[in-house]
Amino acid sequence: MQCRPDCGACCIAPSINSPIPGMPHGKPAGIACIQLADDNRCAIFGLPERPAFCTSLKPGMEMCGENREQAMIWLDQLERLTQP
Ligand code: SF4
Ligand code: SF4
Repeated sequence: MQCRPDCGACCIAPSINSPIPGMPHGKPAGIACIQLADDNRCAIFGLPERPAFCTSLKPGMEMCGENREQAMIWLDQLERLTQP
């Protein structure tokens, strides 16, 4: 599956616990990553500064669903299930 254009759900819903350029402490759940551009693409895609978490997330039907709303719901559930 290809990443859906203009989605960005996985750059908003999950928390990220490692540094992101411009967000040295990572980001909380539900807050858009500072590297998420206006067109909902990653501004640092392919660069070494991109967090390993992001590199490990691969588009797939389970996570991405059929639309952005479904992806947000699934990722929100994942976030709650994986909280320490
Ligand atoms: S949730 Fe899926 S479709 Fe949406 S931005 Fe992430 S990888 Fe792309
Ligand atoms: S670094 Fe890029 S891929 Fe990772 S959350 Fe931010 S915008 Fe999304």
